[in-house]
Amino acid sequence: MKRLILLASLVGVGALSVAAFQQPPANAPKVVEVEKLRDNLWMLKGGGGNTAVFVRSDGITIVDTKNPGWGQPILDAVKKLSDKPVTQIINTHTHGDHVSGNVEMPVNVEIIVQDNTKKNMEEMRGATGIAQNGPPTNIFKEHNGRGMPTRTFGSTLKVNKGADEIDLFYFGRGHTNGDAWVVFPALRLVHAGDIFSGKNIPLLDANNGGSGVEIGSTLDKAAKSLKNIDTIITGHSTTMTMADLSEYAQFNKDFMTVVQTEKKAGKTADQIAAGWKLPAKYKGYGDPTSTDAGKTRLKANVQIVLDETK
Ligand SMILES: [Zn+2]
Repeated sequence: MKRLILLASLVGVGALSVAAFQQPPANAPKVVEVEKLRDNLWMLKGGGGNTAVFVRSDGITIVDTKNPGWGQPILDAVKKLSDKPVTQIINTHTHGDHVSGNVEMPVNVEIIVQDNTKKNMEEMRGATGIAQNGPPTNIFKEHNGRGMPTRTFGSTLKVNKGADEIDLFYFGRGHTNGDAWVVFPALRLVHAGDIFSGKNIPLLDANNGGSGVEIGSTLDKAAKSLKNIDTIITGHSTTMTMADLSEYAQFNKDFMTVVQTEKKAGKTADQIAAGWKLPAKYKGYGDPTSTDAGKTRLKANVQIVLDETK
């Protein structure tokens, strides 16, 4: 039964990453699904965004910490993989389904994010297009600042040494204005967070600096800049390849081009959204026109591109 619930929720977030922001009932079982990707790196699914666990020579790095209440389930899963201490957290971006478990991590842990993500985490504004139940809460203020970043970077940062090295990159705006790419060079692997949440129409969080005009070129820059990568951990879906990333960059560029072309033809946001169809070459992508939530996101993304195209 637990398995069924987990699979159902994964399909939900995989399709659109909308469910990731909805709080399940407090008594719902917190099932962390562990997938081994390398001898010393695992992907933990469930409870929000995909988490990476990297066992270094002298400690453990965790990338993204899921929804509120999922920090301890992550730590419980990690304990079964290694008895080393968790000493380093990296958050790919500000969203609550990627940062909230920070408050349950060891007190002296180093927490690294991109500069803009730190500013966003100080506010924890609601994401564009995600319905809020009441005013947004700031989990870090509720915990007297615990879980807030201790170290930031602008465009690049190299941390740890030798086989433990992690290279952080910021390639520009997309899902937010602080999307970090977390590269494990020795493992030929990168965690992309939600700027590549899966093969779907992206959540463009304009409230936190996201951009429908820039996301395609940002993804393209990542696809061209990142070398020697075999595996991409996505924000909410299965792992992907660099070829998938290049394709996803093109998908987002194509979307922008269609919207801007239709705008020139005098169409309104509603008309553009109503007329948009998933191009045949993107077969296998979640089709936003097949669900109400998808249609809402489609319209929101059209509007965001129009707002940015003056
Ligand atoms: Zn996100």
